[in-house]
Amino acid sequence: MVGLSCAVRLLEVGHRVDVVARDLPLETTSAVAAAICYPYRAAPQDRVAAWTIRSYAAFEGLAASPDSGVRMLEGTEVLRERQADPWWVDAVPSMDRETSLPEGYADGWTFTTPVVEMPIYLGWLLQRVKALGGTVTRLNLPELPQGADVVVNCAGLGARLLGADTTVVPVSGQVVYVEQFGLVRWWLDGGAPEGPTYVIPRSRDVVVGGTDVEGDWSRTPSPEVAEGILARGARLVPGLAQARVIRHKVGLRPVRPEVRLEREGRVVHCYGHGGSGVTLSWGCADEVAELVAAPMESDRGRHAAD
Ligand SMILES: Cc1cc2nc3c(=O)[nH]c(=O)nc-3n(C[C@H](O)[C@H](O)[C@H](O)COP(=O)(O)OP(=O)(O)OC[C@H]3O[C@@H](n4cnc5c(N)ncnc54)[C@H](O)[C@@H]3O)c2cc1C
Repeated sequence: MVGLSCAVRLLEVGHRVDVVARDLPLETTSAVAAAICYPYRAAPQDRVAAWTIRSYAAFEGLAASPDSGVRMLEGTEVLRERQADPWWVDAVPSMDRETSLPEGYADGWTFTTPVVEMPIYLGWLLQRVKALGGTVTRLNLPELPQGADVVVNCAGLGARLLGADTTVVPVSGQVVYVEQFGLVRWWLDGGAPEGPTYVIPRSRDVVVGGTDVEGDWSRTPSPEVAEGILARGARLVPGLAQARVIRHKVGLRPVRPEVRLEREGRVVHCYGHGGSGVTLSWGCADEVAELVAAPMESDRGRHAAD
């Protein structure tokens, strides 16, 4: 998804773009994302906050087209004790203290944020790339391609190979999908000791999460973990207890000590978005387009010598 977002921004300013990917959009980690615009497991804070602001605005624009799969929805993050505003508070237009809380919580932040229904959104993004004249080819690359003027490396966890970067590690997240039962707002408990707990409504189902297990490469959902996820979710939204389970999934978040977004010669690296790939996607895509447009050091030297 990060790669397709970059492709869109580059095509919009007139570049020719050929996307190459081992997995097609619905087979990627991005397809598993819940997905709300909310910074989680990504650093550094100053860049993450700035990228979130730009993505929020882009998604808000997309929410005007129902076929994009993006909706602006109000929801609440619940807290076990009173806390100061989060470090990314300026990334959302407004945030209110919530007083109507589920049992066991002392505080909460209520705000409106984009909720992105990934199966729909990834299809929309793919069509957007094609409509702008880009191509998408399935190919498992043994190394970054040679021969292109610029290569944008958005390999996610695959950057362990394509960026020779072992600082990117998997942090697995399991989710349960239940049939929609009339839920219209999202809930999140980021501080649950068992793992981040969230209940996110979509058009036909509700995504319930989750877990975050660092270093775990397994994408096989565990029935016991699913039971725990549903029990935690029901503390936030009691109606979940009666909801029909549709399916289970696990995705591997590409976590890195810091998101890598930088230009190195003819390669622009853009990976390691952790639990925030959707949240950061448009902000990062804008910056990638700026880096692709910037003259390279070597070109600057050549012009100076002319
Ligand atoms: C359970 C769960 C919930 C989440 N919820 C949210 C959320 O609410 N909000 C949010 O912002 N984020 C969320 N995330 C995080 C988000 O899903 C990721 O940050 C995001 O998907 C990363 O996107 P990406 O495009 O970098 O990686 P990917 O989606 O993994 O895409 C990487 C692409 O690179 C390709 N590739 C890799 N190696 C090669 C190779 N050698 N040759 C060719 N192609 C290659 C892959 O095939 C793939 O197409 C969640 C993640 C999980 C698991």
